[in-house]
Amino acid sequence: MYTKFQFMGPCKEEEEQTTDHLIFQCQKLSNQRNETAKQIKNTGGNWPTTKETLVNNYLKIFVQFVKSIDFSDSQ
Ligand SMILES: [Zn+2]
Repeated sequence: MYTKFQFMGPCKEEEEQTTDHLIFQCQKLSNQRNETAKQIKNTGGNWPTTKETLVNNYLKIFVQFVKSIDFSDSQ
């Protein structure tokens, strides 16, 4: 599965704003990422994990992470 966001990401980094960048690398999302990691660990999971595991096993947590991203500065 390879999903590309259809909009600009929240940061001005040079990298392409893919889901991988947002989930694993984006510096603007470190707080949200820590929160996501904590929630996954609370359920007995491991972090870092793969995008596939996030979607398959932790969809609710993943959706919360995506919703928490603030895209308002990217216009
Ligand atoms: Zn970024």
